[in-house]
Amino acid sequence: MRALETVRSTMSPDIGLDLGTANTVVYERGAGVTVSEPSVVAFNTLTDEIVAVGHAAKEMEGRVPDRIRVVRPLRRGTISDFRATHALVGTLVDRALATRPRLAPRLVASIPGCATDIECKAVEQAVRAAGARYTTYVPQAVAAAVGAGLDVTSLRAQMIVDIGGGTTEIAIIAAAGVIRLSSIQTGGDFLDETVQQRLHAQHFEIGRITAERLKIELGYAGRPPGRQPVVVNGMDVDAASPRSREVSEEMVGEALREGLERILRGVCSVLETTPPDVAADLIESGITLTGGGALIAGLAAEMGFRTNVPTTIAPDPLTCVARGAGEILGSPTLLERLRPHADRLTRWYQSLRIGMRESYSP
Ligand code: ADP
Ligand code: MG
Repeated sequence: MRALETVRSTMSPDIGLDLGTANTVVYERGAGVTVSEPSVVAFNTLTDEIVAVGHAAKEMEGRVPDRIRVVRPLRRGTISDFRATHALVGTLVDRALATRPRLAPRLVASIPGCATDIECKAVEQAVRAAGARYTTYVPQAVAAAVGAGLDVTSLRAQMIVDIGGGTTEIAIIAAAGVIRLSSIQTGGDFLDETVQQRLHAQHFEIGRITAERLKIELGYAGRPPGRQPVVVNGMDVDAASPRSREVSEEMVGEALREGLERILRGVCSVLETTPPDVAADLIESGITLTGGGALIAGLAAEMGFRTNVPTTIAPDPLTCVARGAGEILGSPTLLERLRPHADRLTRWYQSLRIGMRESYSP
């Protein structure tokens, strides 16, 4: 039986697919992360053909002629463009499987918290079209917990906060089940926008990529770590000409304050509704941060301070979701129990959409 399983898994790989708002990551059990590319697709507006996917498409953002449209189909945690999502999933899963001819893989997809039933179906279709024997999907924070190496079968409750580009996903997990699940529509993209706005208020325009670079190099929560200013190129609005200028750490910190505050408040509001026994567990087990936003300087310390729950950053936070989604396939029990009951979850997602509720309790 065991030998048979080994033969099956070498011929038909187990794949974890993290369809993130900023990055799509593919992980294969036993082989590691095989693809990691921006969730971006570029179309030719005249012919409607797809001209680029992933890195190549992201490079076109903000600097292409009118006849090319660059789309980030999952940007706000909901699928805004089904055709682009199809192209993204198809191309990247293809790329991951192209290396050697094998049987159709089993695949767990992880999609942002606001996905509806229709969106899950769309992802399923795209995954099947790419040649996978689709298995199921799990919420991102749940996959992140497994990828972060938490023992999700432990009776003691644990909290995971995955800060992505478009959304922040929050979950409390115990005994291989989901106790709380919440998704807020603030992540790294919002932080980039507020950095752009802050400079705009000083009559200096920068592009998205420059704003993201400033956030990564100079962003912080809590106290400024004391890094040197960074020189950026942009547009002097008053002189209507290109110019370079210095940007200080404090300026970026100020710009990030509102977005980070929203994330911290989102985490606190989940904790406020947590039963006392679960809260008691969390003081011991702590909060684990994943996603690119976990890397913002001082954020883990600030979250620990604000919640009174010790907070740590998972190793390799950007690939936790894909690794977790893939590893869940190794355990039928986890697969069954970590996937919230499908119709209840759909109802929750719908109520979230119309702003009725912020969190899910099974
Ligand atoms: P998603 O799951 O939504 O695709 P990711 O987990 O891939 O998102 O994270 C992408 C976000 O993390 C982007 O907003 C990116 O700017 C941000 N990010 C990546 N690295 C860092 C870093 N070192 N510091 C701060 N933010 C980062
Ligand atoms: Mg993610």
